[in-house]
Amino acid sequence: MTANIDETIESNLDTVRQRIATAVTRDGRTADGVKLVAVTKYAQDEWVASLCRLHPVLGENRPQQLASRAPQYPSAEWHLIGQLQRNKVRMALPHCHTIHSVDSWRLLDRIQLIADELQVRPQLLLEVNVSGEPAKAGFKLDELHNDADRLDAYKSLHIVGLMGMAPAGDAEHARPYFQSLRELRDSLARQTGLSLPELSMGMSGDFEVAIEEGATIVRVGSRLFEGLGYRD
Ligand SMILES: *Cc1c(COP(=O)(O)O)cnc(C)c1O
Repeated sequence: MTANIDETIESNLDTVRQRIATAVTRDGRTADGVKLVAVTKYAQDEWVASLCRLHPVLGENRPQQLASRAPQYPSAEWHLIGQLQRNKVRMALPHCHTIHSVDSWRLLDRIQLIADELQVRPQLLLEVNVSGEPAKAGFKLDELHNDADRLDAYKSLHIVGLMGMAPAGDAEHARPYFQSLRELRDSLARQTGLSLPELSMGMSGDFEVAIEEGATIVRVGSRLFEGLGYRD
């Protein structure tokens, strides 16, 4: 049986959009307050082509794959959601509308240097290791809280908020991690005077809970490709 790619993706996209719209109203906002980043990291090229006709915002977790796909689908707004090594900044930066995975001061320094040189200003989100798991990337919660003054040095960059990932588990289990990311955002905004409007949190398994806790951007991959043999 061959699935019709366009139809399958369109129907998955509809479902996800409806679930976003419902979750948003529970938080007292309107649906256009949440941006859906469709994550294509494991998607085949023809799925990306199909998705791209249906949805304007796409995300990749590997800089290399983003740099190769973004020029093929220039109508999309491309987001980098996965780890960015300092030696990949120059390659990735020209293609990124938003980088979700800024996980260290050294990376910020590097981005500042290259962004000046290339005259680009992608939106940046600081990734926070909300679960505290040593294997996970991101600033430590208290590191960012205690060193908030250091953000002053990056005024020329476009830092718009925070990104975080809950540990594996069911969606309710994720809730306190999303809450702590939102609380950190609120306190950082107070401390620094930066406005930090964006909270990137929530994936296929937990995006509704993330929205209830204030997510403004959700990153959804596998749910969009259900029925096509997507590997997870
Ligand atoms: C893969 C990935 C996602 C999407 O995960 P799904 O469970 O497939 O929706 C979101 N964020 C990051 C950082 C990812 O690497």
